[in-house]
Amino acid sequence: MTDSRTGVAVLGATGSIGRSTLNVLARHRDRFRVVTLTGARRAEELDRLACEVDPEFVVLAEPGGEAFRPAWNGDWRFGREALAEAAACSGASIVVNALVGFAGLESTLAALETGRRLALANKESLVAGGELVLAAWRRGGGRLVPIDSEHSAILQCLGNRPSEEVERLILTASGGPFRTTPASRFAEIRPEDALAHPTWSMGDKITVDSATLANKALEVIEAHLLFGIPYDDIEVVVHPPSIVHSFVEFRDGSTVAQLGHPTMEVPILYALSAPERLTNDYRRFDPVETGPLEFERLRYEDFPMFGLGVAAGRDGGTRPAAYNAANEIAVRAFLEGRLSFPAIPGVVERVLDSMPVCPVRSLDDVVAADTEARRRATEMVGRST
Ligand code: NAD
Ligand code: MG
Repeated sequence: MTDSRTGVAVLGATGSIGRSTLNVLARHRDRFRVVTLTGARRAEELDRLACEVDPEFVVLAEPGGEAFRPAWNGDWRFGREALAEAAACSGASIVVNALVGFAGLESTLAALETGRRLALANKESLVAGGELVLAAWRRGGGRLVPIDSEHSAILQCLGNRPSEEVERLILTASGGPFRTTPASRFAEIRPEDALAHPTWSMGDKITVDSATLANKALEVIEAHLLFGIPYDDIEVVVHPPSIVHSFVEFRDGSTVAQLGHPTMEVPILYALSAPERLTNDYRRFDPVETGPLEFERLRYEDFPMFGLGVAAGRDGGTRPAAYNAANEIAVRAFLEGRLSFPAIPGVVERVLDSMPVCPVRSLDDVVAADTEARRRATEMVGRST
């Protein structure tokens, strides 16, 4: 008997978005089947998921340290080449890219180039790859549906209207754990403080990015690329309860917003099914119970990672890739206790100041900018401690 369900490849299955995706897929077993799962390092965790889901094959992209004896005795594949196979494997018409960081770029390109639907959580690949990613999307002719809640909201608010009718996008930001912390106290921030996000439970890297507001800069670039809206027409407003996921203002003065309780499962489900909507029993929005929806201005001057990132987006070329790479190195150093929280923007700014902006003609240009920015950031982190 042939299986008519849609095949899904879940890249980064052991992560926060990966696990939420598997929850969503488990609720919709009649529609979707998991073709492959990938993970890195946490081999036992990947093995446990493989036993639950029983996909066609599983990829461990990076070794997990000591040798392990898998309980799942199916087709195990190893290394980065196998990861690329997962993004373009024949059984999957949807690829969920839930990898973290620049490591997701090849998968994004492979999925788009082969015309698959790409449900994209890995914003770093779009930001760093920029026009290259858009060109692969055009050539492949498939769908690119963002998982990021703000971009999922914008996509839904746009409702197929052309970008000429849009006057402004307003992305919401929770403000992160230090929304009200005076900048004079930033030097006291420890990794565990930055990892305690008020409204979202996420992987470590994006949680720190939410604390520095680098995440919101990456999202502004993501919105610019996905929806073709100029940077001058993209704004950010702080909205602590994370109920309104973003706004689109149209040229007739009408502003449309998308609302919902903060769970990533709703945007993940939409990325799998859009424009169709599948029945679900997620918690419904109750305006009276939710109460006031507060908004406030972003503290641009106290969170320089935001301005640096948007400026990098405006510069274009290899600049966003360099920003992203320097940020990845600085965030890891902060998490490992080698760099203070307020030193993160300093490292990124010095890396950007020291590197030229080059045009992106090929993947090699992006990889070269990424590698060089990592090298410089690593050197600067060493000097900052
Ligand atoms: P995470 O750290 O929880 O998970 C990352 C996954 O990628 C894991 O499965 C890990 O094994 C895998 N991975 C890590 N490094 C790898 C490498 N070098 N090669 C191959 N695989 C690797 O991250 P997350 O919070 O799930 O975030 C994933 C992406 O989704 C990020 O780009 C993030 O910005 C974006 N995102 C996350 C959320 C959220 O709620 N967590 C919301 C919006 C967007
Ligand atoms: Mg987001």
